[in-house]
Amino acid sequence: MSQIEQLRAECMACRRCSIGGRMVEGKFLSNVLSNMNASAKFMVVGQNPGRDEVEKAEPFVGLSGQFFDEAMLSVLGLTRSSFYITNTVKCYTPNNRKPSIEEEANCRYFLDREVDILKPKLIIALGGSALKQLTGLRGVMRHHGSTILSLRYKTYVVPLLHPSPLNMNDPAKREIFYSDLNKLKEIVREIEND
Ligand code: URA
Repeated sequence: MSQIEQLRAECMACRRCSIGGRMVEGKFLSNVLSNMNASAKFMVVGQNPGRDEVEKAEPFVGLSGQFFDEAMLSVLGLTRSSFYITNTVKCYTPNNRKPSIEEEANCRYFLDREVDILKPKLIIALGGSALKQLTGLRGVMRHHGSTILSLRYKTYVVPLLHPSPLNMNDPAKREIFYSDLNKLKEIVREIEND
């Protein structure tokens, strides 16, 4: 078993919080580690899986995922196979509420291990929860599009707005997201060719 497969097995069995792997309305809502693409140079971190994700046991496969896929392809020319995609919290929260500070802290172990295994050249933080967990900084509206050196993870983190339907259907936020992504083109190409 590879390191990342071992970590996934640990994640699936994790019940540190009450939201870990549970039955809701007759359906098992799985913990979701990542898309398991451990050879990717780029890591993408969102907040936590939604209902689509826990039913399919894959991150970013719902509406946010469709916006993400479309943007990565149209701006960077990359499909999701170029990214290791994960979340700060690996479980669905009741009514899709924001994960609590305790849930983020409990899941931190998995994020730390993922970065350690992957050693990504660049981490894209999607939204405020990922920004906070990866850099300690608060406020994605203040920091979006900047390049932050993370001392904890020894790599660069670029925060973008979360590609949620709420943001992507807001013309001003959509514009910010695409403009930040455009600024990433060159560095992404350099890393790709390295
Ligand atoms: N939103 C997230 O932050 N992560 C997912 O996996 C899906 C939606």
